[in-house]
Order: sequence, then structure tokens, then C-alpha cells
Amino acid sequence: MLNIQAGSCVRYYAKHSSCTKCEHICPTKAIKTQEGGIAINQSECIDCGACLGICPTEALALREFDVNSFFFDFLKSKEQVISCKSNFVCLAALSLDHLIALGAVKEVVLDIGHCKECDIAPSCFAQIEHNIDEANYVLEAIECKPIEAKEVAKVADEKANRREFFTLFTLKGALKTKQDFEKRLASLEDQKISVEQIAKIREKSIPNRRKLLYTILQKIDKPSSYRYLENEHLSFTSDKEIDSSCDNCSLCYRICPTQALDSDARGAKILFDPFLCVRCHLCHDVCEKDSIKLAQFYDTKEFFEPSVKILAQFTITRCEDCGNPFSYFGGEKLCPRCKIEDEEAKRLWGIG
Ligand code: SF4
Ligand code: SF4
Repeated sequence: MLNIQAGSCVRYYAKHSSCTKCEHICPTKAIKTQEGGIAINQSECIDCGACLGICPTEALALREFDVNSFFFDFLKSKEQVISCKSNFVCLAALSLDHLIALGAVKEVVLDIGHCKECDIAPSCFAQIEHNIDEANYVLEAIECKPIEAKEVAKVADEKANRREFFTLFTLKGALKTKQDFEKRLASLEDQKISVEQIAKIREKSIPNRRKLLYTILQKIDKPSSYRYLENEHLSFTSDKEIDSSCDNCSLCYRICPTQALDSDARGAKILFDPFLCVRCHLCHDVCEKDSIKLAQFYDTKEFFEPSVKILAQFTITRCEDCGNPFSYFGGEKLCPRCKIEDEEAKRLWGIG
């Protein structure tokens, strides 16, 4: 059974959201996006999990299978193969965060030998291939071994094997609470990670899998040099720019679900932390002036030493009429609302 956490799905809290990722990948058309949310037809859902991997905000979850729990167990085990025939749901359920984190610390083989004959391949296989390519693009840039994707020799009794795995999985229990997750995340921590660094990331409202990725990347050696990745080849994060058309309306940083976009206390600066961006596209969807843009490159330094940059700066002054602070661009010191009222009054009186 598929569950949606409405508080995490960007469609629920922003009617301008253009996100339709889950609807597009769903092989049975069980998900329909609609104004103000999504509708799930549970009788059509086949629990493949493909929508889990693609949802930018980790808003979807299967009741019977938790990818983060799998991640912890797989990391500890000697197993290298992830296969829909023995230990996993559809490989599309593995997000880029999971793939990169696993690939950074372990040799991983994705068993794609069953995809060709699979009924849901037309919806999911291209995404699986894309995820592997993108994960390897990042892994190569941070000097880690690529993830292997190949056909793995079939196990004797696939059904029994899979049944056994899911029974075990259910017995162990998925991560039911935030505390369960935090506890298991802490078990991955390395002595060299500073407590402050971890706390800083944890207090952010980023998906658990991004916290996982951060913890794993702090455990491994930094690459010998940082590289620039093409932003257009990334789908799970991004670096941004804001052009001079921005009028500091504040919508983007007030709506960003992860606080990747933020402002200083006075509202005089728009700040951005690329590592926190989950590429949900919401900031672009709400920006009427289309002032926020993808930067050309993403610096791999952000994976290891996340930083906050200033995307735009404004002069904040008080409106001479109402006294409220506003972004001043020259001319009369009137805030946008008072300016409109002033112009309307002038029109009414036939002056100006
Ligand atoms: S992919 Fe996630 S954020 Fe996007 S509409 Fe579906 S549930 Fe919402
Ligand atoms: S910066 Fe934009 S794309 Fe990135 S998480 Fe925030 S709203 Fe989404």
C-alpha cells in the first residue's frame, strides 16, 4: 500500500507546483496529480515503489517496504547485489541520494537482468538507467567506484527467496519513527564528523535520504580535487543564480521546502545552500519574473563542505507612508502597496 505524506508533497502546499514526477513514472496510472495534491488509486497500485525514488521530497512511502531501512541493512551486510527478485522492490525506487551514498562506500551491483521482460519496464527502465548514469557521473567526479548494472545469474527459487526476504524485512520492522531513523543514522557516524556539522544538517527539513547521503559523504575521504558537474546532468540537486529582474518578493525562499533558499533576518539577502536543494522546481514555479535560474555548474565541494552563498542583495528601507520595511530600488521611498494606493488615489482625483 502506498502512503502519501501530504505535508511533504510540494503540490499540497503550493498550488503553482508543476511536479508530476510520480504520476509520470507510475506504470499502472494509479497516481493522478490534481490541484492541491495527488490522488492514489490503491486498487491499481502494485507496490513497485518506482514513485518513491523519483519524488524529490520523499513524500511517498510503501507500507510494507522502507527504502531507508533497506539502506541501513544492506550497508551492514556482505551482500552486493540489489535485485527485484530477491531483496528489493523495483530498482527505480532507489533514489539518486541512496545510489550515490551506497556507491560511495560499497561495491554495488544492480541486477537489471529482469527488466527487459518486466511488465512495468516501459515506465521504469529508462528511469533506472538514467539514475545509474547520473549516480556514476557523480561517483566518478568524487573519485568513487561506479555502480555496476548487469544481469545476475538467476537464483534457484526466486519466489521463495523473495518471500523470505520480505518476511525478514517485516519482522525487523521498518523505521517507524523519526527517532528510529536518527538512531540508525547516528550508528553510521564517524568520529571525524563534527557534532556541529551533523546537527546543522539534521535540523533542516531535508528528506531523510539527503541526511543519509551527507553522513556517508562525511565518512569517506574527500577527493584529491573538487570538480564542476554540469547542472543539467543532475536531477536530484542543483546550484542556482538569481538575475537582476528579481524584486525580492520573497516567495521563493518562503516556499522552499528544504530551506535551501533562505534570507537573512532583515530580508536584505537571498541565500542559497546547494546541498540542501532537492530540485523540486517549486522556486522556479512561483517566481513570476523567472528571475531564478539554474547555474551552469555544481561544485562537488558542496557535497563535502556545504556552503551558503548570497544569490541577491537588496537595500531595505522604511516606507515613508506606512513605515514598513521594503526593498528599495530608487525613486520615491514608497513600498509597492503604498505606491499602488498612491497611484489609484491620483487617478481618482484626476492628478498625476
Ligand atoms: S513526486 Fe512527490 S512531490 Fe511530486 S507530486 Fe508526486 S508526491 Fe508530490
Ligand atoms: S531551491 Fe528551489 S528547487 Fe531547490 S529545494 Fe528549494 S524550492 Fe526546490
